[in-house]
Amino acid sequence: MARRKKIYEGKAKILYEGPEPGTLVQYFKDDATAYNAQKKDVIDGKGVLNNRLSEFFMTGLNAIGVPTHFIRRLNMREQLVRSCEIIPLEVIVRNFAAGSMSERLGIEEGTALPRPIVEYCYKDDKLGDPLVTEEHIAAFGWASQQDMDDILSLALRVNDYLSGLMYGVGIRLVDFKIEIGRVYEGDYQRLVVADEISPDSCRLWDIETGQKLDKDVFRRDLGNLTDAYTEVAQRLGVIQKGAMPITKPTLIN
Ligand code: 5GP
Repeated sequence: MARRKKIYEGKAKILYEGPEPGTLVQYFKDDATAYNAQKKDVIDGKGVLNNRLSEFFMTGLNAIGVPTHFIRRLNMREQLVRSCEIIPLEVIVRNFAAGSMSERLGIEEGTALPRPIVEYCYKDDKLGDPLVTEEHIAAFGWASQQDMDDILSLALRVNDYLSGLMYGVGIRLVDFKIEIGRVYEGDYQRLVVADEISPDSCRLWDIETGQKLDKDVFRRDLGNLTDAYTEVAQRLGVIQKGAMPITKPTLIN
């Protein structure tokens, strides 16, 4: 059997050519990186958990009318997605101060923000994904004004959906990052939520204890990352409590 064509390999995922035109297979690796890949490790089971969690969030978003690239999960580590042109921006929504915002502005981590704050970073590893303004985005042609209106609306709808979902299982959605893609349908383009939504790209804190259940566990050496992601998946009912821990990779390609 011919090996599938690899389209792109990133830090945590690989994209392969999909079975039909306009589709891709998104493979979730176990690799964890932080601080622009200066810190690296392989965490058994992370890819399996992120595949399941991203499926769960994207399916929910599709169901409430927030368009995403997600079509269906194929197996433990792969999902079928619509091929799209990624807008070169990281769209970050913050409900509480943390991470780079706390460092930049000297605001204590955990401080509630008066309203959700949306930030944009230019996606470029060599530059360390710098924060940019809408002026940069317009001037360099990364997105049009109409795109920016749609991106803001998508980001806030994702925030409402995820915050509510997390609150229901005792988790505070501190912040998250999404990526947006363009899908072409005839003469029209539509923006969709692309990439992944998982504890790799969100900050999730237990509401009662403040325990971190996201990639900061890895970034800041706070314990076992798979345990934290398993806790999130179990609370959301994505995997059953008491199920065997997910570890070894299932490589199907
Ligand atoms: P910060 O700007 O505070 O580092 O990150 C804000 C939020 O966006 C956090 O939830 C963080 O996980 C997410 N985020 C920012 N940059 C990246 C990135 O390059 N990759 C991933 N997976 N998440 C990111």
